[in-house]
Amino acid sequence: MNLVKIIIAGPRGRMGSEAVKLVKNTDHFELVAVVDRKFDGQMLSDVEGFQDIRNVPVYSDIERCLETVEADVLIDLTTPEVGMHHARTALKFGVRPVVGTTGFSKVDLEELQRTCEDKGLGCIIAPNFALGAVLMMKFSQMASKYFHDIEIIELHHDQKLDAPSGTAVKTAEMISAVREQKLQGHPNEKETIDGARGAEFEGMRIHSVRLPGLVAHQQVLFGSDGQTLTIRHDSYNRASFMSGVKIAVDTVMTANQFVYGLENILE
Ligand code: NAP
Repeated sequence: MNLVKIIIAGPRGRMGSEAVKLVKNTDHFELVAVVDRKFDGQMLSDVEGFQDIRNVPVYSDIERCLETVEADVLIDLTTPEVGMHHARTALKFGVRPVVGTTGFSKVDLEELQRTCEDKGLGCIIAPNFALGAVLMMKFSQMASKYFHDIEIIELHHDQKLDAPSGTAVKTAEMISAVREQKLQGHPNEKETIDGARGAEFEGMRIHSVRLPGLVAHQQVLFGSDGQTLTIRHDSYNRASFMSGVKIAVDTVMTANQFVYGLENILE
């Protein structure tokens, strides 16, 4: 396989540090730089926890990084505002973004899609890189053809910034594409405490749970006469996302369009 030169943004984060391990442990991946706001001008080996990663410079500014370092792919695992700036800048420099950062707006996604079309470059944004989560979304879409009353409950650690999760929104969108339109619950239902029924998405409800101890979990509940169906996925650690990141990096190298969601690149 051809060598893929990779920049990782957010290497000290929980996801970013797993991505550094993935790149280190994959023969045809090479880490050529990292983008980190705190250690500009240093080497990654100077940063605690990365002593064994040699010859990888740290940049705080993505533009300067891309001007200096030759790369094929940028893996971004930061925050929505920073991730959008990084993805936009990477495309400007002809570097393909693989973005796991969640919380991008529709407007952001449309802008990246347009840029990819203009430049004929690949970009993969996946709100969930866990293969099991992708299957959970696909199975939920299948079930929603037959069960039209649906509540999505997503559960994450309490440091998560965006709610509902990108996975929950993506699940709702996939369901909406095939589900018969339906306003759920009693037509006269009233919340006596705001938010009790969760967020409304085309008649479905999405509930976000935030607790320490959790990583990333989601269950989709389907109700019908006399029966319910529950489809659930649990990520117990961040390593669970890395097989999907690896597939995305390999795929983006030959892609020349914008892809949103890992399910669109799995056979
Ligand atoms: P995290 O541990 O908080 O890491 C975030 C990283 O971003 C840190 O290295 C942080 O550096 C950096 N960062 C924050 N603000 C920055 C800024 N202004 N400039 C440059 N770097 C900045 O978060 P995480 O759990 O790794 O999650 C990262 C992202 O991935 C989130 O959006 C999360 O929702 C998403 N995620 C995606 C998946 C998936 O499968 N797609 C799975 C899990 C999580 P500092 O230490 O300096 O703040």
